[in-house]
Amino acid sequence: MTILKKIKYSFSAQQKHWVGDGFHVYGLLRPTDELNKFISPFVMLDYASPKEFSSSKQRRGVGEHPHRGIETVTFAYQGEVEHRDSSGGGGVIKSGDVQWMTAGSGLVHDEFHSVQFTKKGGIFEMVQLWINLPKKNKMTKPKYQEISKKDIPNIALSKKSELRVIAGIYEGQKGPSSTFTEINLYDVISNENKHLSLKFKSGTNTVILIMSGELEIENKTFKDKNILIFEREGNKVDFKVSNDFKGLILNGEPIDEPIIAHGPFVMNTKEEIYQAFSDYQNGKMGTL
Ligand code: MN
Repeated sequence: MTILKKIKYSFSAQQKHWVGDGFHVYGLLRPTDELNKFISPFVMLDYASPKEFSSSKQRRGVGEHPHRGIETVTFAYQGEVEHRDSSGGGGVIKSGDVQWMTAGSGLVHDEFHSVQFTKKGGIFEMVQLWINLPKKNKMTKPKYQEISKKDIPNIALSKKSELRVIAGIYEGQKGPSSTFTEINLYDVISNENKHLSLKFKSGTNTVILIMSGELEIENKTFKDKNILIFEREGNKVDFKVSNDFKGLILNGEPIDEPIIAHGPFVMNTKEEIYQAFSDYQNGKMGTL
């Protein structure tokens, strides 16, 4: 039986803030007690909407900082991001690429505009998503997956609209990312007005970020920089998109465990957060 998922929360970002000097973002998901139940396993989402950067000699970005207990996933839409971490992971992701970093037990990393993008300047657009790890995997060994555009299945929904499967599965096509819990991550680009219907397992959480264009659902129209969070119940999401639409669709099996998030660490208890700070300060998460 098909049951439509209903919107639980919808909101738009009012103000951008800087992450370092390279990422000017709308903070759209945060792990508040109210939201957790409906966004888990996702913890945080920042959207750096298109912004022009002038050519520069000095790389812009965020210097060395730690993470533990999560995965950070960076989607490059325009511009280039360079990363290196203390577990040996690193690389440059370009337009259409995705970087999937498992912080697990802990690492330190930095995130900058690439050398080439810094020199040339141009439009920069990116999403960073934090995904929670279940208690039993929080202290897993750090891992780095560089997912290049060519490895992401690009499915033509029609002549002018496409869906990419970054993780999970869509109509039998599997995405390249390896995940700890069941997750589906798609992005959709449509150059025509299009009706979309996506099927998900009942009881899973679903979130849609509108990056550009409009999305119509439940007789309401939502614009860019809006985020929609759905009820767990239901197994289908039905909506229309405009002819200039770009959006990111997140779906996942919720991790129903307590969350204590503090800065770059997301753990299950306060004691584990204190331990994370202490381990970081004592150099146990490594150095660059
Ligand atoms: Mn980081």
